[in-house]
Amino acid sequence: MDEMCQSAIVKGVSEICFTEHLAVREGDPCYGWLDMDAYGKDIAKCRNKFKDKLIIKKGLEIGEPHLSMNKIEPYKSGHDIDFIIGSVHNLEEEDLTVYMQGKEQIESYTGYFRELLASVSQGDMDVIGHFDLLKRYAFDVNGRYRHSDYEELIHEILKTAISRNIGLEINTSGFRSSSLEIFPSQIILKMYKELGGEILTVGSDSHSANMIGNNIPPVYLMLKQLGFKSVFSYTQRKPSAVDI
Ligand SMILES: [Zn+2]
Repeated sequence: MDEMCQSAIVKGVSEICFTEHLAVREGDPCYGWLDMDAYGKDIAKCRNKFKDKLIIKKGLEIGEPHLSMNKIEPYKSGHDIDFIIGSVHNLEEEDLTVYMQGKEQIESYTGYFRELLASVSQGDMDVIGHFDLLKRYAFDVNGRYRHSDYEELIHEILKTAISRNIGLEINTSGFRSSSLEIFPSQIILKMYKELGGEILTVGSDSHSANMIGNNIPPVYLMLKQLGFKSVFSYTQRKPSAVDI
């Protein structure tokens, strides 16, 4: 964490949010790993060390936040969480890479987007994580997916998110996958804008210090072209707009 903060400062990043991964499915490799006390101590240490140089936020990325809510609650309450990303990493009790095996593209994406709809309808989250994550794995197998094949479902997810004040996480790690596209694709951001959505956060999903802040400037440029004027930052789960 210390190294990540130092890298952010060197790269001119003014605010960073850690989003430790909370997995609720027992077979998930991350299941049972998150230690909130240790996480809280690391955050406090870094906030103290870098206090004049970097704003440090404490977040969580919760996998399938609509499932096992009673397991999730103790990780949220009393921990001063600034920000929650809600993601779908597992489906039908399997990792997405296993879930999609032997399925046609239409079947795997329909299942994934349906689960995302369930998640955004019921789960407690501030933003939807990496909206079309399945393409990270499915691109090599089935190529690019056509948004028009899932338009109704995508619309439903976006409308539900807007009605619940849930935003979208723009995740630049897609540039590191073979699809070479951000999550979500630009066309989904356009739909979100047309439906009246405004809340966007931008992150690099860095799992190592050298990736911090990767590809964020070109994303800001693209957002401006789509008509967005700001991105959002969360403190104690309250969004505030930051001009871009
Ligand atoms: Zn994720």
